[in-house]
Amino acid sequence: MIDPKEGVRLADHTTFHIGGTADHFITAHSLDELKEACSFARERSLPILPIGGGSNILVRDDGVRGVVIKIALPGIVYEPDEAYGVRATVGAGESWDAFVADAVLNGYWGVENLSAIPGTVGATPIQNVGAYGVEVASLIEYVEAFDTHSGEVRRFTNDECAFGYRSSFFKTDEGQRYIVTAVCFKLTRVPTPHIHYKDLVRAFGDHVPELQEVRDAVIRIRARKFPDLATYGTAGSFFKNPRVSSAQFTELKDRYPDIPGFPEVDGRIKVPLGWILDKLLGLRGYREGAVGTYEGQSLVLVNFGGATALNVDAFARTIETKVFDATGVEIEREVMLKP
Ligand code: NAP
Repeated sequence: MIDPKEGVRLADHTTFHIGGTADHFITAHSLDELKEACSFARERSLPILPIGGGSNILVRDDGVRGVVIKIALPGIVYEPDEAYGVRATVGAGESWDAFVADAVLNGYWGVENLSAIPGTVGATPIQNVGAYGVEVASLIEYVEAFDTHSGEVRRFTNDECAFGYRSSFFKTDEGQRYIVTAVCFKLTRVPTPHIHYKDLVRAFGDHVPELQEVRDAVIRIRARKFPDLATYGTAGSFFKNPRVSSAQFTELKDRYPDIPGFPEVDGRIKVPLGWILDKLLGLRGYREGAVGTYEGQSLVLVNFGGATALNVDAFARTIETKVFDATGVEIEREVMLKP
């Protein structure tokens, strides 16, 4: 049974601690409650804004003239699977890191590099969350999502999710009518450490780590480099790393010989934006009023207290312009502006 609330401050439901009030706010703990919440919106001809942990969104200062539905569908079910070991079907409302901790505790490899990422399980396919060389796209068997138009739950195969670099079908205009309700991950009992990123190479050297050691190392590294959500308002990396053509990369390399680049499977070159911001533009820790880049990682924008969505947006535009002027590269945002 749903319990709609009125005038709820969304700043209290986002890790940026930014956002005006929602006219209506409903927490959906089950599929039935999600359906009820959608009917509530449809009967009043109101738009729906689904949210999870609020950790990858920037909510406008004037809030939401519609129904915010907080997705709180629970459940973690493991089933053995012949092909790869274990299938984990997880409710969209589960805390992502609680699921990672649980999988690791059970000895299931796959998600350990994605330790200590804030937010809910349902949010991970939407932007194809990734860290330290592992993306959820490589682990997802299917996604179940509620179609707000037809009222049916539909199962999307991995291919249908159309995963890309921090993107998926669910980020497209067409995909936004679906609300993720559960995600099925392929995990394995077979040790498969992915430790080729420099921080993990540094942590382990020649040692082949156990599963729990990988999780512990990622948690330690992230605690050093990323802001503590208890202290800072932030949505993590605000921008995506740009992926440029090899011709554009050669041009950049001519101008900036030290610029790093990582070849992608599609032939493009991924350029760490953090390097551009730090080394080229000197923007590490740069601040305008209550908004700034984080000292430990300049891709992360921080609300130091009292910043508005407008402030963050203006700051992000400044960064975008500076990067474009210096490199000719148009960077994209990872954090989604809502509504
Ligand atoms: P880093 O190791 O300092 O590397 C800087 C960037 O270069 C990373 O963003 C990474 O791209 C890329 N990179 C580094 N080594 C690579 C390799 N061997 N192959 C391909 N690409 C490589 O990165 P960091 O800032 O400390 O972040 C560590 C990881 O956590 C990264 O994967 C990052 O994406 C992830 N992370 C995500 C968020 C978020 O909010 N979404 C926040 C913090 C960190 P990729 O980003 O594509 O991996």
